[in-house]
Amino acid sequence: MSVTSIMEAAPKLAEEWASQREDRQNRTKADPADYQSLRELGFNLMAVPVEFGGYWEDLSRSGRSLCTVLRMLAKGDPSITLSSSMHQGVLASWRVPSVPEPFNEGFQQQRKEVFSTVADGCWWGTIVSEPGSGGDTGLTRAACIPEEGGSLKFRLSGQKHFGSGSGLTSFMTTRAVPHGETAPDLFFMEVRNHPWDGSTGLKLAAEWRGHGMKSTNSHAFEFTDFPATRIAWPGHQAELMNNNSSLGGISFTSVIMGVIDAAMEYSRERLKANLARGSRLRSLQQVDWTMAEQEAWLIDQAWEGAMRVVDTGTQDRRVMLMCKENVARLSESVLNRLCRIAGGNSYTWYSPLGAWFEDVRALGYLRPPWALAYDNLYNWSVES
Ligand SMILES: Cc1cc2nc3c(=O)[nH]c(=O)nc-3n(C[C@H](O)[C@H](O)[C@H](O)COP(=O)(O)OP(=O)(O)OC[C@H]3O[C@@H](n4cnc5c(N)ncnc54)[C@H](O)[C@@H]3O)c2cc1C
Repeated sequence: MSVTSIMEAAPKLAEEWASQREDRQNRTKADPADYQSLRELGFNLMAVPVEFGGYWEDLSRSGRSLCTVLRMLAKGDPSITLSSSMHQGVLASWRVPSVPEPFNEGFQQQRKEVFSTVADGCWWGTIVSEPGSGGDTGLTRAACIPEEGGSLKFRLSGQKHFGSGSGLTSFMTTRAVPHGETAPDLFFMEVRNHPWDGSTGLKLAAEWRGHGMKSTNSHAFEFTDFPATRIAWPGHQAELMNNNSSLGGISFTSVIMGVIDAAMEYSRERLKANLARGSRLRSLQQVDWTMAEQEAWLIDQAWEGAMRVVDTGTQDRRVMLMCKENVARLSESVLNRLCRIAGGNSYTWYSPLGAWFEDVRALGYLRPPWALAYDNLYNWSVES
């Protein structure tokens, strides 16, 4: 297996998923068989460095292919693709090759452990978000108490929501404030084989009921003294996130790109078929179609612009966020137009367009969510 073979096989898997579209758009639960298909594709190893048996070389050589595969897969099923994108994102913290002494030895040991779980077939996810925080991890209230002996082993308590991939993942990263400290730090938890009734500290607080991204299993949980391991470079989660070639929001954006691709392709085919039958669009529909094409073109340019930065191997958070926010805004507009063109049927479950409309709406709420993203864009603008 190689990145080339993954990129060749991904469209075939997406086509298979697309052929089951009606069922997939209606399901409210993720199917573990899909994660198995992604494993067979080798997709779970795309975020794992080559030295640990994966395909990740560095941002300039691996970033675009990862985002392109997300875009391809989301054409078939955006929910499962979005859930799986969390795996690729959270492993980024351990892609940092080394940290300063005296932490490096422990960090190297942890990297080996983390990546060997992936080689063994485990999926990772993240459940950082907390109700009321507005996506601002600085407002984390979950707390962690160290276990006896002063190691990296802690017990975590707090409310968390939006844990995409729950039930499919073996490990989840999160943030919590360590006892006696003021800033939250990065932790990971082994969540497999734990019942969700609270008996071992993991209690399902609310099952995911998304209007879109319906089968992401983004459940809410209450943690009580749940075992958690701290990152082996304590107190430096910001540096790890900043310096780790994390693709962050652009990988979520790539998922939405796949939805736009699918929706435009679907609508274009129907439009052509209608024209061939002599059925013409009315004036408003002509405007909507022309505008949808313009907006889809802009969306593609924004993604390509972000990808070109990725290709250089540099980080430019402003470009990435500009891309994410523009795609979030324009993709809602595109789907709204496509629904209007298709008529009242698009408001029903007989058409895929209504579900896609809700799916693309997720992007604005994904990290950083709307208000936080606009704070950042505004502040960077006035500070520069
Ligand atoms: C499909 C999907 C998948 C996701 N997957 C993950 C994941 O895997 N892991 C993860 O950690 N996160 C995930 N997220 C969460 C996401 O990353 C953000 O963290 C989350 O959406 C941010 O929370 P929020 O701002 O939406 O809501 P909250 O954190 O609940 O904050 C809402 C804010 O709005 C304010 N507010 C609420 N109601 C009102 C009102 N009526 N008037 C005024 N103010 C009000 C609140 O005070 C608060 O400040 C996912 C989100 C989506 C949509």
